Parts: sequence; C-alpha cells; structure tokens
Amino acid sequence: GQNGAPDYLKGLNPEQRLAVETTEGPVLVLAGAGTGKTRVLTTRIAHILATGRARPWEILAVTFTNKAAREMKQRIGHLIGEGDVEGMPWLGTFHSIGVKLLRRHAELAGLKSGFTILDTDDVVRLIKQLIQAEGLDDKRWPAKTFAQMLDNWKNKGLGPDEIAEGDARSFGNGKGRQLYKAYQERLQTLNSCDFGDLLYHPIRIFRAYPDVLKEYHRKFKYILVDEYQDTNTAQYMWLRLLAQRPNGGRGASAEGRKPDRASAGQAAPAEASERSERAAVSENKVNICCVGDDDQSIYGWRGAEVDNILRFDKDFPGATIIRLERNYRSTAHILGAASHLIAHNEGRFGKTLFTDRDDPEDDKVHVHAAWDSEEEARAVGDTIEAYQRQKHRLNDMAILVRASFQMRAFEDRFITLGLNYRVIGGPRFYERLEIRDALAFFRVVANGGDDLAFERIVNTPKRGLGEATIRQIHDTARAMRVPMLEAAATLAESDELKPKPRAALREVAANFERWQKALETTPHTELAETILEESGYTDMWKNDRSADSPGRLENLKELIRSMEEYESLRSFLEHVALVMDAEQNADQDAVSIMTLHSAKGLEFETVFLPGWEEGLFPHQRALDEGGRSGLEEERRLAYVGLTRAKKNLHIWFVSNRQIHGLWQSTIPSRFVNELPETHVDVAEGGNSYGGYGNPYGGGSFASGRGGGGRQNPYGASRFDNVGAKDQGSFSNTYATPGWQRAQANRTEATDRNWGTRS
Ligand code: ATP
Ligand code: MG
Repeated sequence: GQNGAPDYLKGLNPEQRLAVETTEGPVLVLAGAGTGKTRVLTTRIAHILATGRARPWEILAVTFTNKAAREMKQRIGHLIGEGDVEGMPWLGTFHSIGVKLLRRHAELAGLKSGFTILDTDDVVRLIKQLIQAEGLDDKRWPAKTFAQMLDNWKNKGLGPDEIAEGDARSFGNGKGRQLYKAYQERLQTLNSCDFGDLLYHPIRIFRAYPDVLKEYHRKFKYILVDEYQDTNTAQYMWLRLLAQRPNGGRGASAEGRKPDRASAGQAAPAEASERSERAAVSENKVNICCVGDDDQSIYGWRGAEVDNILRFDKDFPGATIIRLERNYRSTAHILGAASHLIAHNEGRFGKTLFTDRDDPEDDKVHVHAAWDSEEEARAVGDTIEAYQRQKHRLNDMAILVRASFQMRAFEDRFITLGLNYRVIGGPRFYERLEIRDALAFFRVVANGGDDLAFERIVNTPKRGLGEATIRQIHDTARAMRVPMLEAAATLAESDELKPKPRAALREVAANFERWQKALETTPHTELAETILEESGYTDMWKNDRSADSPGRLENLKELIRSMEEYESLRSFLEHVALVMDAEQNADQDAVSIMTLHSAKGLEFETVFLPGWEEGLFPHQRALDEGGRSGLEEERRLAYVGLTRAKKNLHIWFVSNRQIHGLWQSTIPSRFVNELPETHVDVAEGGNSYGGYGNPYGGGSFASGRGGGGRQNPYGASRFDNVGAKDQGSFSNTYATPGWQRAQANRTEATDRNWGTRS
C-alpha cells in the first residue's frame, strides 16, 4: 500500500510508479521530454535491487553516454541508501557493454581476450594496405570511403556474405566483399577489432553459439534501455537476441516485419536472418523495459531507426505500454513553445504533455536578434553575467549549438570575460584535430623554428614521408644545428633520400618558403586560406567521406574567419596560445558548451540556443540530403534543445554569418516562426534591428525582413543603430582591415541574395 511504500517510490506519479513496479514482462515507456523516463529507469533498478528480485550483476542497463551511466549508478545508490552502487558491471553504453562481452568470448570471434580496439586512423591505414594488395588504385578507391561502408554494414549487423550484391560490387572494381573478408581476417591476425565489431562480434557469437546466448538469458534477469528511439539496427538486433527467450519455434507472424526504410535494397539478407530470429520468439515473458521518445530521435543520420520504438509491442507481444504526460522539468512557457514546434512534424506518434507549473513570474521564451556571431557571443556573455549577478550558478547554464564551429566565438568571448566554461562531449574548439593541424601550418610559417609544429604536419596530408625520412630530418637538423624545416630543405637538395621522399620534401620546403614570403605582402586571412589549400589540407577533408568531415571543414572556415579580428598572423597565434592555456577545471563552476546532439537527456536551469538561422538550423546539409525527413529530424533536434531548459530559455539568430567564405545575410530559422506567440517574448532592442521588429505583428521574421522598404540593410544608420544601442565597443572591434574586407564581401553576397529574395 501507499503508506508502506519505500521512500524511493513516494515521489512518483501513478504512471511512473506503474512503470517501476511492473517489473515482469516487457514494458515500454513512450513519453515526451522531461516526463521522468530516466528517473523511472533509475528507480526501477533501485526497486529491483531493493526487493531482491535480482542482484546487481544480473541487470543489464543501457544508457546513451558513459556520463549518464555514472550518474545513474550514483542515483541508484542514493535511492536505496547505499552510497555509490558498485558491482553493476552491465550498466553502460552499448559499446562499453559490447567490449565486456567480447573480452569474455574473444576466442569465439577468433580473437584473444587482450585484443586491441583500433581507432579510425589505424583502420584506414589497414584498409589502404589491403586495397593496394588487391592491386587496386587507392586514389580511385579511397580507404576512407571503404571504412565508412564497413561501418554502415556493421551497424546493420551484416557480415561479408550478407551484404547486398550491388553494394559489394560498388567498391574496388567489384571487390567489396573480398575486401571485407580480407579486412576481418587481417584484424584477426592483428588480434584487433574496430569500433563496429564491439556490437557486430557479440551478435555473430550469439547467433552461432546458442549455448553462450543461453548463458546470458539466464544471467540477465532484467534488461533496461534508455533513449530507445536512437538505437540503430545492430543495437536492436543485439538487444533482441538478449531479450528473446526461444521456446522451440513458435513463430510470430510476419506482420511484425521491419519496415525497410533507410536501407532500401541493402538489408535483404539481414531481414532474412531477423525473420528467422523472430520465428524463435516465444511468448515467455521477458523482463525488458525500454524508455524513449519518438520526438527526440536525432540520430537517423547515423543509422538509428525510430521505427524500433514504434513496433515494440510487435517485437514483445503482451508488452505493457505506459505513457507519461506530466512534464516536471520546464515552465509552462518552455513546454508550450516546444510542444507547438514539434507539432509541425508529420511523422509522429503524438503525445500530450502538460505541467502543473504555472508561475506568473516565469519568463516567456526569449528570442533575440544579433548582428553577427561576435555580437551574439557578446550578448550571450552579457546575459550570463547578468544571471550571475542574480546569484545563478554557471553550472546551471548551457549553450547548445547546432554545429561545433559555432563554439569558437563563445569560447573566445568567455576567455576575454574570464568566464569559466567547459566543452562537453568533444574537444574545445582550438583543440580539435583539424584546428591543431591548421595551426601547426601557420606556426611554421610564422616561426620556421617551430619544430613541434613542423613535425605535426610534415606528412599531413600524407606525402609518403615515412618514419625513416623524418628521423633523417631530425638527425640532419641536429648535426647542422638548424630547425627541421631548414634541414628538410637541405635534404631535399641532396641525394641522401630516395626520389619520392625527396620530391615530397622539396615541395614542402618550397611551399613554406613561398608562404613565409607572402606573410609580408598578403593579408593574413587570405594567406591562411591559401596555405590550407596549397598544402592539400582542405582537400584531404573534402575527399574524406566520413561523417565528421563536413563539420571539420566548417571548423576550418570558422578558424579563418576568426582571424579577421586580429592584426596579423602572429597576434592571432598569440591569442590562440593564451586560449589554449586557459584551464578547464572539472570542479569549477562553469558554463557548459556542447552540441545539441550531445545534450540529449540533460537539463539546465538556463539554456541558450544560438544560431537559429536558415541554413545553419535547420542545417543545409540535412535539408539537401534528407529532404522532408531531414527537416523533421532537425525539428526534433530543436525540440531536444528547447526541452533541456528548466526555467530560462534564450534563442538567438544573427543577420549576418560567413558561409563558404562569404558574408551572407541570413534569415531567421523557420523554427523561430514556429514558436507560438503566447509563449515567446521578442527581446527588447529587437526594433533596433530594423526589419525584425515584432515578428508577430507584420508577419514572420523572415518576411519582416524583406519588407519595410529598406533597400540596403547595411546602410550606415542601421549599423550605427545596432552599435549604439547594444555595444559601445562595436565600431572599435570592427575598425580593422579584416572587417572592411569582410564588409565588402558581405555587400556583394548580400546583393545577390536580395536580388533573388525580393
Ligand atoms: P528526457 O526525455 O529529456 O530524457 P526524461 O523523460 O528522461 O527526459 P527525467 O530526466 O527523468 O525526464 O526527468 C526530468 C526532471 O523531472 C528531472 O529533474 C527529474 O528529477 C524530475 N522528475 C521526474 N519525475 C518526477 C516526479 N515524480 N516528481 C518530481 N520530479 C520529477
Ligand atoms: Mg531521459
């Protein structure tokens, strides 16, 4: 009864409590953001442990990030009053659990338990060797492309013999399948596996060795999964293998067949094997509990299948489906805004969400306009400081960006302000691989004696300079007492090297000589761009087919753009050195900066969502590649962003952003227009931005811009206006040659845009 209920159950609402106490049989909690799904999972584990239904190692619990796993362990311990729960070895991400499984059964995958997990670089190098060994031209058939294909196959659980014929033929003159086999064999000899294997091998093992699978069926009394809407095909297969209890072949009907969406024409063999697995599903009850929200499915681009959640009751007949409708996280304004926005999506299950919170003091959702990303960063910084003065902690604030390049402006600004921040889920902007590489080129140009930088990029992109050659450069440098660059130039003219590395070194030396000369005559941003182009560095990422290369290219553009604010390459590099030196202390009170994707499941008192402009959010790439479903996934991402906020929510858009090296006038995201007027407050000062005004008066933000009869939005009066009203320092900041250049470009680009828009 209610009175005798343990403390951990008392705070729950009836639906939540049902989800916690229905421990037996399949349970799906399908509910919107902030309704307590994760809290239900945590409490459910606590309940299972506290009532002695299972011991800690008999529970398999999957979270989306390692951080979430750690937090969950802490909270469970808290709930049942045992401090941190140790000994829940099977609580983690799909990958961390996958490693553990594979270590136990490595020999069944042809590995030894001390196997190594290869990183992407290793994988690509290995594939390249195999491509060459097949007598194929690795320029025509890039190793990176094949690495991506492999990953896709493994994410679908497809082995070499199961990939579609067309797929197998599409690479390496029809040798795709052969290469896949050769690759897996090579991994075995190296006693290694790649990231995809962490799921793929266990799936193969479970299928091939029913006894092993049975062992886990006995072991895992309870299975729990958070963020179920974002499982991909391999994760889904893996889960189903573990969750099914065969009973000798009583089949489920074919109507549970998985709709073949994203993988049209590729998944046929996988479907066949899925079907036979399905045929073995029994009606024995399986204690699996999955929680998720179809409106928060944001990993479709990486193969996640939101359909998994929508057919749960077909996969697990007799499932209890529980809806949670009360949101505990956000104010009525935030919730109202988010619900209204997501209602623009067509392909959704549909859910009701309400909150009891009704405080007239609560702010509406703030929408702000800014001139460009620098001003946006300044204004966000000012707002954060204002909150600080009202005794808000930095830990309770987060900036969620659509693309990682956006972080740069905020990081720079916060360092200037001395405001602590931390970047979650990835390196800080200047610590990113591509940024470090680019900076290494610039450092050598600015200072030919910077050997560390030189060494970093002498063979980037790959120029066939092996370790032996680099050692030779070292030796020569030491013997001659000169920097490595100079030693390389000398070696390039001697006959100590074989023709190939010699030619490569000659090119490197000539490049740097030319760039160093240009340093005196060419504007530094222009030079920086030239360097990245002539060195082949930009092309290296353009030719890279992996999912993160477009983001890296964007970061490089942002790097160049940010240089405009500095007088010279040297003063820019000094700035970067100072930024890199800034401490990132985990214990300090600090603002979080992260991408929207990595914010899933988290919550903050105050959330800033910058960059709500067409082309950035929704991102052009998502629109180009995904069409309507791409747009809907972007909208779900916006929904995830909005629903991270508990109390304060600030959305920003800028009217000018540099895209593809040109300043362009941008229009506010359609998502801004999709927010309901009743819950939105257009920030004061909006009028100084001319055309934006009140978007709900004269129509949408977007059309407000085109109207108003201001032919030239960059006219001096508007410019002064913005500067005068918001930032005294505005004109100073831009009184640089870089700015004038940018402005010229911007006008050009803008004229074109205006031509097509009005
Ligand atoms: P998301 O979809 O964003 O992952 P969620 O459904 O997992 O959200 P939780 O993170 O579990 O939601 O809960 C949101 C917030 O509401 C948390 O701060 C949680 O502690 C609080 N909460 C959940 N249920 C209750 C409840 N019954 N009483 C009070 N607070 C609750
Ligand atoms: Mg959650």
